[in-house]
Amino acid sequence: MTDFFHTIKGFDLRTAIRIQPVLSDLMIVVSVSGGKDSTALILVILEMIAAGVIRADRVRFVFADTQWEADETYAYLDFLRARLNVEIDVVGVDGGMEARCRHRAGFPGRQQRFCTRELKIEPIRKYHDAIEEETGLETVSVMGIRADESESREKMLEWDDEGPRYTRERWGGYVWRPLIAWTVTDVLAIHSRHAIPVNPLYRLGHNRVGCYPCIYENKEGIALIAEHAPKKIDKIDNLERELVQLRIARNAEKPGRYAHEDDASFFQTQRQGFSGIRKVVTWAQTAHGGHQLHLLPPPPKGGCMRWGVCDIAPPPLADGLEIAHDALIEECFDDAMAINLEVLDRMVAERKLQGTAADFLGGMGAPI
Ligand code: SF4
Repeated sequence: MTDFFHTIKGFDLRTAIRIQPVLSDLMIVVSVSGGKDSTALILVILEMIAAGVIRADRVRFVFADTQWEADETYAYLDFLRARLNVEIDVVGVDGGMEARCRHRAGFPGRQQRFCTRELKIEPIRKYHDAIEEETGLETVSVMGIRADESESREKMLEWDDEGPRYTRERWGGYVWRPLIAWTVTDVLAIHSRHAIPVNPLYRLGHNRVGCYPCIYENKEGIALIAEHAPKKIDKIDNLERELVQLRIARNAEKPGRYAHEDDASFFQTQRQGFSGIRKVVTWAQTAHGGHQLHLLPPPPKGGCMRWGVCDIAPPPLADGLEIAHDALIEECFDDAMAINLEVLDRMVAERKLQGTAADFLGGMGAPI
């Protein structure tokens, strides 16, 4: 099948002819995160439908909600639904991230990285299984992964067959990554072509969209969250305290169950004695320099990166590239704002966010 798949950066007849037979017997399930790559993916799929390459009734869009995302992301997904007239189904587990942390009296981390699997992969897998049951067709999981995002993604193929069954290492079916050879410029170009702005989080300075924060958030990301969403930091602080109490209670019932009963930290730092969200935020708000840069361990190369459902902060770009990247995002916003404000205003009002859509898009409002 691999031979049929070619990078799609806008359609021509040759691409359409090659892809059509491969997809004709499959249900196409597109994973959506609210990030710029997944939005580009939605737009590519809609272009394919418009070009008659795939049938609209063979496509489903799905968002794995960890219930730990930024307000901007939920509003942005509502915006995409309205603006593009697409249904985006939502899957997840009851209570999301907080419930899973309470269940374990601990946060996910390097040793116990349960978040990706329990909150994203398994709910999405069940969604695929239900579609296969309902339609009698196999599914293909479509993901907006790009090779230039990381070393591990560089090795990924555009098309994989990870069947026949789901295991911890294998998805259990077909995987298609149509954007594998795309650059950021390609991604932003398709946003502009459809007059769709990127998620407002980018405008606030974030370089990733996903759990807010992710356990692998970088220093800049933590400082930005503390600045724009201080209530989120309060929430983590309260949860850390609650989990410590839970550990103490469970240790009382079963001595030794938790080796560090007094330490439940969202960010598991590399130095002992430096735990708790408040200390990490203070560290993140300091200037760059020396030993401080190594407080947090680097994000993993496998795990979430391998599954492609978690958006981990990329390594810093060189200064020139950073400026070019920011300029492209600005350009994408400016192109799209005029026609989207009305729809966004409604979304902002429905979500009870403070400010107008213009504030929201400009990153000046303070969503609650
Ligand atoms: S984005 Fe981060 S915190 Fe969220 S599920 Fe993925 S690895 Fe876990």
